[in-house]
Amino acid sequence: MSLSQIARSIKASPTLALNEKAAILREKGDPVIHLGGGEPKSRAPMDALLAAVNSINTGEVRYAPADGIPDLKKSIIRYTEEYYHRKVNPENIIASSGAKQALMVALQAILNPQEEVIYPVPYWVSYPDMIKLCGGIPVPAPAEDGTFYPRLKDIEMRVGSYTKAVIINSPNNPSGAMYSKEFIAEVVEFCEKKDLYLIMDDIYHRLVFDGKKPFSCYDFTKLSVENSKIIVINGVSKQYAMTGFRIGWAVGNKKVIEAMANIQGHQTSGPSVLLQKAAVGALNGIQSSVESLRVTLENNRNILIDLLSSFNGVKVTKPDGTFYCFADFSAYEKDSTKLSQFLIDKVMVLTVPGKEFGMEGYLRISFCGTIKDMTEGIERMKWALDPNSPNELYIGDRKLVRDWS
Ligand code: PMP
Repeated sequence: MSLSQIARSIKASPTLALNEKAAILREKGDPVIHLGGGEPKSRAPMDALLAAVNSINTGEVRYAPADGIPDLKKSIIRYTEEYYHRKVNPENIIASSGAKQALMVALQAILNPQEEVIYPVPYWVSYPDMIKLCGGIPVPAPAEDGTFYPRLKDIEMRVGSYTKAVIINSPNNPSGAMYSKEFIAEVVEFCEKKDLYLIMDDIYHRLVFDGKKPFSCYDFTKLSVENSKIIVINGVSKQYAMTGFRIGWAVGNKKVIEAMANIQGHQTSGPSVLLQKAAVGALNGIQSSVESLRVTLENNRNILIDLLSSFNGVKVTKPDGTFYCFADFSAYEKDSTKLSQFLIDKVMVLTVPGKEFGMEGYLRISFCGTIKDMTEGIERMKWALDPNSPNELYIGDRKLVRDWS
């Protein structure tokens, strides 16, 4: 069987594969703890549920416009005014099936084969493969100082005649790092000077801690949205705990949004109208669920940091936002895939190997689950990795015995 070069260059999403693995283990009755997840566990807001139910009750669920229903665009216009301080028009907006599709059609709209896209390391697992799907070349940019906070020069030194775009994801999956205003201002100015597209993946922008507030990349440009090459990506998945609803969006200049809509129109058409209505419900409804999720996550972050700091040899950088902590386990094992597999096999704890995010020796540990799972998961990891642990561990009435050193 011959598959395309593109298909052969792409691998399965490691995070989705882990979800499947957790489900299979659970089905077998194994007491697995999933610390690799990427979705909040709270319920979707009532306003979102009611809007979707009202829509389905009409019994008339039809095709939606390829770039989103007018009501959702209205809500996104309001959202953009509130959080980005810019007045945009419906032609500056496309609603997609998740931020994932918004990103994908943005890349398809701007990339020619062999053109390069630069993004800081660590990065969200899908960026390299999305760029490859467009025939482009992914250019990861590790910070020279080894931190999770890139500097402009880390990006600047990788720009060449093939560079087409920069992707910035802050707060960042997997590190939780929220980049400084100064850095974002520099990147905005730099991309403008070099005439590069700047894709701001802001999917976690309201899930920030320690009194930090989301800020707008448009505050650092004098250009109008219409004249700017900034494309802002956002969605309801994370902030409203609506991952399964699959609604995201992009804001950009008319020309790029029109190209994205044309592509999406042939690819999937507009997202399901039911789910768009749900997103309208979430965006226009009572906002308290976002703040209560944020507070819960901040509390979980503090608990996880405490648990990890009592873990000898593990180095942790406190996440500023999101629901991920990217911890350095290289003192125990430098090969993160091996380490993650070991933890699944020995103590049934799922974490995501750092290698998938461009940094070996790290594990991504999520804090969007329950405190009980985090506490027990870290306990099990400690037992498995610390050579001074007792020989036996009980999980319920299951006895695990160390048969490794
Ligand atoms: N960007 C980042 C950085 C993400 O972590 C995710 C989800 N894991 C997405 C985009 C995609 O979000 P959605 O569910 O809206 O497709």
